[in-house]
Amino acid sequence: MTNRAPARPGRFGSAGEFGGIYVPETLYGPVRELAEAYRAVRDDDAFREELAGELREFAGRPTPLQAAPRFAEASGIRRLYLKREDLLHTGAHKINNAIGQALLARRMGKTRLVAETGAGQHGVATATVAARYGLACVVYMGAVDMDRQRPNVERMRLLGADVVGVESGSRTLKDAINEAMRDWSASVRTTHYLLGSVLGPHPYPTMVRDFHAVIGAETRAQVLEREGRLPDAVIACVGGGSNAIGIFHAFLADEGVALHGVEAAGEGLSTGRHAARFADPAPGVLHGTRTLVLQDAGGQVRETHSISAGLDYPAVGPEHAALEASGRARYAAATDDEAVEAFQLLARAEGILPALESAHALAFVRREGARGAWGGDPLVVVNLSGRGDKDLAVVECWRASRGR
Ligand SMILES: *Cc1c(COP(=O)(O)O)cnc(C)c1O
Repeated sequence: MTNRAPARPGRFGSAGEFGGIYVPETLYGPVRELAEAYRAVRDDDAFREELAGELREFAGRPTPLQAAPRFAEASGIRRLYLKREDLLHTGAHKINNAIGQALLARRMGKTRLVAETGAGQHGVATATVAARYGLACVVYMGAVDMDRQRPNVERMRLLGADVVGVESGSRTLKDAINEAMRDWSASVRTTHYLLGSVLGPHPYPTMVRDFHAVIGAETRAQVLEREGRLPDAVIACVGGGSNAIGIFHAFLADEGVALHGVEAAGEGLSTGRHAARFADPAPGVLHGTRTLVLQDAGGQVRETHSISAGLDYPAVGPEHAALEASGRARYAAATDDEAVEAFQLLARAEGILPALESAHALAFVRREGARGAWGGDPLVVVNLSGRGDKDLAVVECWRASRGR
């Protein structure tokens, strides 16, 4: 395997150059306590059984692996399968991680969850599990995002969460993360910080990956059952990277399976208005972890842009940085326009409205399928990370502006 085990826990890459714990003194204790607690439950049968039960009963696992022949044909290939994470409760993969962390928090004796949210999807998943397990919930959200994402703010409030607008900085996701971390450092005795992707200090990138690894484990078994062989390529969109690492993980040791992550090229790489961390890879530290960070020549974090809020973040999970460095996974980018076109094709060819995030992975299939990548008659799997209901206004707006 080219992807070697980390030299130290929470470190990724052949020299352990990605990941780690880069937090202020006040957060070091809470992070270590969490790492210990997670280590204790990770292989605990009772915890795993409880988690599996909740994933089945509350989230709706296993999700189907569905053939998409009409989308495939329009993309120049014959065999395409979609892993339907969009069919989970709350409409995306995020609930896998939210359930896992909430059950862990309860075991740790915590009574309160804090979370950050950008578009509100992770906030809704957190508010949902807080309600189910009887935990108090505070969600920090940039004031700008609260204006843009009213329906999700209302959802969270209906679920009993306290949504707090953040007025500092650019008043968006990264400021909300700072505020959630500040809250946690002051309230750790009662509170768990439920982080939403494979980001942040150890143990988050490992723990969140483990909670999503069920996606790949199911996919691998399902594709073997259906086709009697492993796929040639597995493709997922990459914001922080949780749905991608979740489906990749079961295939890491299968060198014949190409793994492709697709990030947001926004309005085009040459415009500078994108969220493509791999286009010009630059290591740096953001929100507690060392990874690839979109930054300017002076090391300042750059503003990002994507039509899909879930891909609109300047850093990527450290394990992805390591997978790219080792060559085990490859990363490409799709533009806003390509994503909306793939969204429309999936709607009309298969009767599914995908999340715009997931549509980036579908756009990559269209581009590469037409090029004849992966040899003759490839077997391709796409992780359909979420459903598109949340994106209807954005797509309508795009159509109006393009006259389509
Ligand atoms: C949040 C979100 C993403 C991006 O997050 P990852 O951690 O990269 O998976 C992708 N798809 C959907 C539907 C989302 O809600």
